[in-house]
Amino acid sequence: MLKKILIANRGEIALRILRACREMDIATVVVHSEADRDAIYVRLADESVCIGPANSAQSYLYVPALIAAAEVTGADAIHPGYGFLAENEAFAEQVEQSGFVFIGPRAETIRLMGDKVSAKHAMKSAGVPCVPGSAGALSDDPAAIQKIAEEVGYPVIIKASGGGGGRGMRVVEKADELIKAVEMTRAEAGAAFGNPEVYMERYLQKPRHVEIQVLCDEHGNAIYLGERDCSMQRRHQKIIEEAPAPFITEAERKRIGEACVAACKRIGYRGAGTFEFLYENGEFFFIEMNTRVQVEHPITELITGVDIVQEQIRVASGLHLSYKQKDIKLQGHAFECRINAEDPYTFIPSPGLITSCHLPGGNGIRVDSHIYQGYTVPPYYDSLIGKICTHGKDRAQAMAKMRVALGELAVNGIKTNTELHRDLFVDPGFLEGGVSIHYLEHWLQNRKDSAK
Ligand code: ADP
Repeated sequence: MLKKILIANRGEIALRILRACREMDIATVVVHSEADRDAIYVRLADESVCIGPANSAQSYLYVPALIAAAEVTGADAIHPGYGFLAENEAFAEQVEQSGFVFIGPRAETIRLMGDKVSAKHAMKSAGVPCVPGSAGALSDDPAAIQKIAEEVGYPVIIKASGGGGGRGMRVVEKADELIKAVEMTRAEAGAAFGNPEVYMERYLQKPRHVEIQVLCDEHGNAIYLGERDCSMQRRHQKIIEEAPAPFITEAERKRIGEACVAACKRIGYRGAGTFEFLYENGEFFFIEMNTRVQVEHPITELITGVDIVQEQIRVASGLHLSYKQKDIKLQGHAFECRINAEDPYTFIPSPGLITSCHLPGGNGIRVDSHIYQGYTVPPYYDSLIGKICTHGKDRAQAMAKMRVALGELAVNGIKTNTELHRDLFVDPGFLEGGVSIHYLEHWLQNRKDSAK
């Protein structure tokens, strides 16, 4: 088993990983920027190292500082969390070349899945259903591009191979807009991701976002932990997640879960991963794979009882997964609300001093948060300040628990999106379940219109 882990991240996920390590009697090293000096996990860690100024390019993204911190503290592994360098193949490679264990898949797996064209190709060959579209990257030949679009059927979406974070995508409604859209997406992708390659997919009209959590070890074991529905999104950013996904049948879950597991075995996947799908009219369509722990992993932990971060650490230690597929039984229903330091109406970030706060608790409530009274939310990073999760015997009970938890939550001194969550947890459409990825945007638009 690994003995000392360096946590190359910040915020709630740094605390989450730290807690997993402490439970496993693994020593922890936390790195932090000058702006995160007062973070709670810095105080709780066995050791901490300041790796640079607030600007993440000079701290959380600065590889030499991270490697040096691991060297001076004698850590034997690095956990990247999510965001920052978690899906950076060069980082994974450098960590291993420097003699440390990277808690994640091999660098070549990150590379394969990081490029969306190669990822789709690999998944298609492995028998995972993909969104119908171009066979690979689009060529420069306008006639050939037009022909592909005719075959795929309008509307289509042009996507950057190297895209991420909901950027580098353009929907095309009709043929005369196609070539210009391809050129524009190419130019943007080249500038933003250093890779002008683009591909085409059919644009699904009312899909849901349903994703499958997997865990794999290096001894040929791979399991799926059911699915999460993350359709409640604003600007492609998830706000509320739930598990299991409403109205997905046991047979559907089994079929798609087994396809993901087969794909993992085929590409030699290692650690925790998520296959993201669009789900429409009873069909799953692969869009991308995330080769890391996800923000929303706690809801899967609640319904399966599996500690995903601890399994990541076991696998990185070279051990077998603690579970076989037959051990995985989904129990009840779970929700997660992402609490962001932002205005609940304008979504403008609201960093600053938390003058007082009260976090909810009780039966079936899980809070993952690094905030405390007197903590200052720095303005330099993501606005996520915590996650409220609830677990009930069924969806209705998990929802009722969330209403109670959101009612208790109080964060003073800064603005948070708590009020938005409170409104959504009494919304009839959301209560019914199974909404599409456009639901929240429409809901927000209606709210705006009726406020006028
Ligand atoms: P990123 O890596 O930038 O998050 P994804 O490929 O995961 O990009 O797509 C992000 C979001 O864009 C999806 O969750 C969905 O809302 C929308 N999207 C992507 N592809 C399609 C498609 N073929 N049809 C409809 N919506 C899509």
